[in-house]
Amino acid sequence: MVFVLAILLILLTCWSACVLLSNTGTTRHKSRHRELVAKIDSLLPQTQCGACTFQGCRPYANAIARGTADINQCPPGGQATVKLIAELLGRQSKPLDPAYGMQTQTEVALIDEAACIGCVKCIRACPVDAIIGSAKHMHTIIPKYCTGCKLCIAPCPVDCISMVAAGIDISHKKTNKLLSHTIK
Ligand code: SF4
Ligand code: SF4
Ligand code: SF4
Repeated sequence: MVFVLAILLILLTCWSACVLLSNTGTTRHKSRHRELVAKIDSLLPQTQCGACTFQGCRPYANAIARGTADINQCPPGGQATVKLIAELLGRQSKPLDPAYGMQTQTEVALIDEAACIGCVKCIRACPVDAIIGSAKHMHTIIPKYCTGCKLCIAPCPVDCISMVAAGIDISHKKTNKLLSHTIK
């Protein structure tokens, strides 16, 4: 009887040790995964445009880290970002996949301030805080922060946001001092 109890005790101890080791391994794996996601995310442009087919840069970084998305799906980041991610992962770089769009930050958004009703819907839609304004007041876009993602256009109920070529002089269209200069 004592012998059987001793065997059971040994088996229980071994099982506990295995569970402990396995949990420690899982925690380490999760922590390494989180670190990798953060590193990949830091290389992405944070435009949050969704062109990669994910809900933003971090979910895309997570998919890359899991191996469920390729490294060449971010058009705003362009070839330079593909190269950086490849270097981080110790992989071969590859061309940006045109199926997700090409790097074309040639446009920025422009609000027709006379038509703006100050509904703040565009501010909520802008992932990079490139729009300033408050409820019931005219809104305006800071061109140097605008990534050209166009996410603010659809929510505008009065269609007063349009895309203009980055670099054009819009001073004749603007009264706002912030924007009465050449877009850069
Ligand atoms: S395409 Fe690039 S910038 Fe746009 S959400 Fe995906 S990772 Fe972010
Ligand atoms: S296009 Fe609109 S939503 Fe996108 S960054 Fe520019 S202002 Fe923000
Ligand atoms: S969504 Fe259109 S109307 Fe509303 S605040 Fe923005 S620009 Fe103005």
